Amino acid sequence: MQPSHARRQNLSLALQALYSSGPMSRADLARSLGLTKVTVSELVTALLDRGHAIEVGRSTPGRMGKPSILVDVNRTGLQMIGLDLSDHRALHGAVLDLDGTVVARAQRPVLTDDSVIGDGSTAGPDYPAGPLGGERAVDLVLELVAECLALATAPILGIGIGTPGIVGSDGVVKTAPNLDWRDVPLRDIVASATNLPVSLCNDADAAAHADHTLGDGGDDLVLVKIGRGVGCGLIVGGRRVRGAHSAAGEIGHVVVGTDGGRRCRCGKVGCLETWVSAPRLEQAIAASTPDPADAAPHADDVPDAVTAAGERLAIALAPVVAALDLADVVLCGPAHVIVPALVESVERTLRARLFTVENATLRVRVVEDPNDIVVRGAAALVLLDQLGVS
Ligand SMILES: [Zn+2]
Repeated sequence: MQPSHARRQNLSLALQALYSSGPMSRADLARSLGLTKVTVSELVTALLDRGHAIEVGRSTPGRMGKPSILVDVNRTGLQMIGLDLSDHRALHGAVLDLDGTVVARAQRPVLTDDSVIGDGSTAGPDYPAGPLGGERAVDLVLELVAECLALATAPILGIGIGTPGIVGSDGVVKTAPNLDWRDVPLRDIVASATNLPVSLCNDADAAAHADHTLGDGGDDLVLVKIGRGVGCGLIVGGRRVRGAHSAAGEIGHVVVGTDGGRRCRCGKVGCLETWVSAPRLEQAIAASTPDPADAAPHADDVPDAVTAAGERLAIALAPVVAALDLADVVLCGPAHVIVPALVESVERTLRARLFTVENATLRVRVVEDPNDIVVRGAAALVLLDQLGVS
């Protein structure tokens, strides 16, 4: 290992220990990392010089002697910008501190024709055209970044962006039909406009980063993000899975079941997305809500289409969960479509299909802050890329 590489790794390990555990003395940090006090002192000095860590006071003195100075990650003295480009109504931006707390917000409305794309039918073989035009979408992103930078009240560690579509490791959006993007080098565009480090990933991947770094998620999870379509972010062994085509987790157009189904906007029949997307779930929930004019609706009526959607999702997820031995299945989407009947159906179907070992510790849960999860996840990606903290 190159000395510079070892040092960079040690700096990241020190930041990770402080980020996870909170303020520590240099001596405690040395113990927790298994490094000498001399090495850790030198690392801390470098982190203080960079502004990535700060001294935050003194510990209460123990019996043995004087109090020691505590060091912590510079949680509020640095800020990050997070962008969420996945909402078809508006592009969202936020300024966050290093704990992932949103301290300011901005947005740019996106005009759409909901009569075309909001009813969920998205009939025909073509994806609906983006409402913006690709160049206009890039301009809006740059405007949003500029507004967020103006709202920031501390030096910016970096800019994170969660975008719909498929994002290469080179920071190029390979394809994002909703924004009318194909091979757009968004990372470089934003970086050269701002002179700041920029991190870019798919919106479901960003959400998985948020759950892993800033939320409850363990090191082996799948996060299912339900919006106009459905996609997953996968964390395995503490690292996000990219895949051979940077498209890991793109399960929306996987055909589930062998019994037909509806024709999908991609042209196939029975894609997961024809059961599980926000518009489809809205339809299912509306169909299952009793008409108040009907006499005496049964209180225990199970919304069949919602249950079916949960089953299809679990059928698609079960082999993934088993193959990767995942511990967390996390559902993320608008609160009005992630209804209890859906979550129960996913969990019941998954448990019925999995081997006992996986079943024992499997958690199926819903994220608490679906509205902010992509901006927070984009910021978590900045933490990872700039500080090595996850
Ligand atoms: Zn499809």
